[in-house]
Amino acid sequence: MKIIAVGMNYRKHLLELDESQEPSEPVLFLKPDSALAGDKLPFFLPDFSQEIHYETEIVVKISKLGKNIAEKFAHRYYEEFTVGLDMTARDLQRKARERSLPWAVSKGFDQSAIVGRFLPVGERDIQDIHFHLDINGQTVQRGYTGDMIFSIDRIVSYASHFFTLKTGDLIFTGTPLGVGPVHIGDCLEAGLDNEERLLQLRIK
Ligand code: MG
Repeated sequence: MKIIAVGMNYRKHLLELDESQEPSEPVLFLKPDSALAGDKLPFFLPDFSQEIHYETEIVVKISKLGKNIAEKFAHRYYEEFTVGLDMTARDLQRKARERSLPWAVSKGFDQSAIVGRFLPVGERDIQDIHFHLDINGQTVQRGYTGDMIFSIDRIVSYASHFFTLKTGDLIFTGTPLGVGPVHIGDCLEAGLDNEERLLQLRIK
């Protein structure tokens, strides 16, 4: 399986990254399958970064093979979603950005793609979902999928023109405003607003 992620998909997050230009097409990057982790094990702070950030994102799981998917049919290609954390070595990413180098290391290291418990999309409107992240009981990020620059169907369609989508592939759909660092001992809890928690992660 592969993990496709979208950068710069919420306007207010662009501002905190000092990005003045809104992208004209989805900005995609990949994480290797070795990046995938659930929340059963703690997240171990790696020694190669002094600044690991959380990015709370809605994640969809591809449910069938697809290539060149039209946007209007894209909803047929995912049946489950959850809240995930696109863990980012911000110090390494900043260095890469300054020199226009790839994000592979800063975004793709082990345990950098944390996913919570998946829920069926069912009758939900995937673009009308409120989600949040709490750290040690304080809400640090709130997101609303209606604020995305590129909708999930647009992202699925766009990605499928470059990469054949396969059952089980995951798409991280971008983070809203409020990213920040994690520290040893932190307890991260993420979920949909007014619903039960989908992810609980300890930082070690
Ligand atoms: Mg992200």
